[in-house]
Amino acid sequence: MKLIANCNYCKGPIKVSAFMIENRIELARKKGKEFELRCEKCGRKNDVHVDDVQAVDGLWVKIVGLFSILAAVLLTIFFWGFGFIALASFTIPILIVTTVNQNQRTKIKQFNLMYYDSKRPRK
Ligand SMILES: [Zn+2]
Repeated sequence: MKLIANCNYCKGPIKVSAFMIENRIELARKKGKEFELRCEKCGRKNDVHVDDVQAVDGLWVKIVGLFSILAAVLLTIFFWGFGFIALASFTIPILIVTTVNQNQRTKIKQFNLMYYDSKRPRK
């Protein structure tokens, strides 16, 4: 899971560094209700409210997925040499990818659904 906010000036995404943050309440506790972020694209400073931060898919989910598929292919080729195709060599990595993805999706959904200030008007 990756946290991003949109730049007020160029609308580009700004990465919010937040390690081990699960929701906006934790983010507000760590960074404050509003914090300053500099846009990497246009270089302007933004005042970001925690409720404007969105959770999106992290890159590592894709990396895990890619490696698992690669491992599945390699294991299948390896077992193929023994004269049989091990079903487990293919299903286990797929299972890992599915679990990781589902976990991430749930986390992302939870983050995006819970607002710090529910009375604040949305953009
Ligand atoms: Zn910008």
